[in-house]
Amino acid sequence: MKVRAYLKCIIPSCGKRYPIETTRTFCDCGNLLDVVYEGSFTKSLIEVFYERRNHENNIFNESGVWRFRELINFTGTDSEAYDEYSKVFVSFDGAEGRTRPYEMTKVAEYVGMPKENVLFQPEGLNPSGSFKDNGIATGLTHAKMLGVKEVICASTGNTSASVAMYAANEGIKASIYVPKDEIALGKLAQAFQFNACVYQVIGNFDDALKVVLQKGREGAYIMNSVNPFRLEGQKTMIYRMLEYLNWNPPDWLVFPRGNMGNCSAFGKAIMELYEWGWIKKKPRFVAVDAKGSNTFYTLYNGLYNGEPLRWNNGNVNEDLIKDYYSYLDKNNLKPKTIATAIQIGRPVNIKKGLRSLEYTNGISVQVEDKDMEDGIAVVGSNGFDCEHASASCVAAIKKLVEEEIIKKDDKVVAILTGRLKDPDAMIKYHLGNNRFSNPPKIVRI
Ligand SMILES: *Cc1c(COP(=O)(O)O)cnc(C)c1O
Ligand SMILES: [Zn+2]
Repeated sequence: MKVRAYLKCIIPSCGKRYPIETTRTFCDCGNLLDVVYEGSFTKSLIEVFYERRNHENNIFNESGVWRFRELINFTGTDSEAYDEYSKVFVSFDGAEGRTRPYEMTKVAEYVGMPKENVLFQPEGLNPSGSFKDNGIATGLTHAKMLGVKEVICASTGNTSASVAMYAANEGIKASIYVPKDEIALGKLAQAFQFNACVYQVIGNFDDALKVVLQKGREGAYIMNSVNPFRLEGQKTMIYRMLEYLNWNPPDWLVFPRGNMGNCSAFGKAIMELYEWGWIKKKPRFVAVDAKGSNTFYTLYNGLYNGEPLRWNNGNVNEDLIKDYYSYLDKNNLKPKTIATAIQIGRPVNIKKGLRSLEYTNGISVQVEDKDMEDGIAVVGSNGFDCEHASASCVAAIKKLVEEEIIKKDDKVVAILTGRLKDPDAMIKYHLGNNRFSNPPKIVRI
């Protein structure tokens, strides 16, 4: 099947449309854009998606992103015509998105839930080690469609690793901007390994993004989550989760809050499926902030100036956001957490994120660094590994179960966003005096 797609401003009172063939990521009014498809999608595609798991050497069936291609195909190619779409779709040889939710007995016990009611989807199993590959596959597809020779991004490390990996494989130049000294060494190493052009910004992630957004205004192709085509690929995390649950949504969906690309993409996926009648229920979203980087938690829960920040049909109280940011600047308050992937003070997708939480009756919580460290260790005891940002989900579920906001017979799915790429932090934890320390025993001969 072929569908036509266009870009549309997220703010209903604007709603301006743009053709797909553009490098712009913002509407003229300054707001973000959505990819919108013409036509509707029948639920019978569910069988097509399932049958493609028997991939018959088609890498686009093997890929857990492109297996769902009808629902993300902004390219205008025929999703049944291999000769057509194989020239356009970008895939790391079908390796991205081959994940699904797992039961983790030790983690379930730790958070106080029956093991069958709390599932974890380890996106660290992606080829570059994080969920970012889901989105870079589609984002780079769009860049390739336009014949772009160079892509750029700001990154706390995983976006740059993924962009560098895919760009190298496609023969496209990747220029990446990372905060100097505030990125896990394993992530920085990947950028070097994949031969990206690395710029170290003196400042934090928010500063690096500012540089990149300026280059975007000058015409550069941006691979950050302001890129709406990237978010289309990130929707497939939801499709794989739902497929595993026979398309019965869980009660809760838990994920870390960084720049809110996932919050935006997951919300869009749920909105579309609900509106097409594929699902009858919306999972309540739980966006998890690190306590040391809690912009969203603060604004959403009305802890600054008392007024909770809401989507409000696109009439977001921008003055409240601006006031809060200038308060942070005036007091020189910078986000600081061990979970560098979510050490983001000014989430660029905040409006899309608010829209997702409103649609799903979502909540925003915050967790301590210490609890994320313990969370990593507990996930490890089930034979999986994840980084601090991802383990924020474990800490958040534990807390919400204790507070009886999540009930033991609720069904919960959490996205473990990435693999640990900071072995120093792990070793320090296990050698130190921590709750789940697992120090080595010395052997003398
Ligand atoms: C990028 C990233 C995040 C943040 O995701 P957003 O979509 O920006 O909110 C969280 N965890 C990991 C491991 C990441 O790489
Ligand atoms: Zn607009």
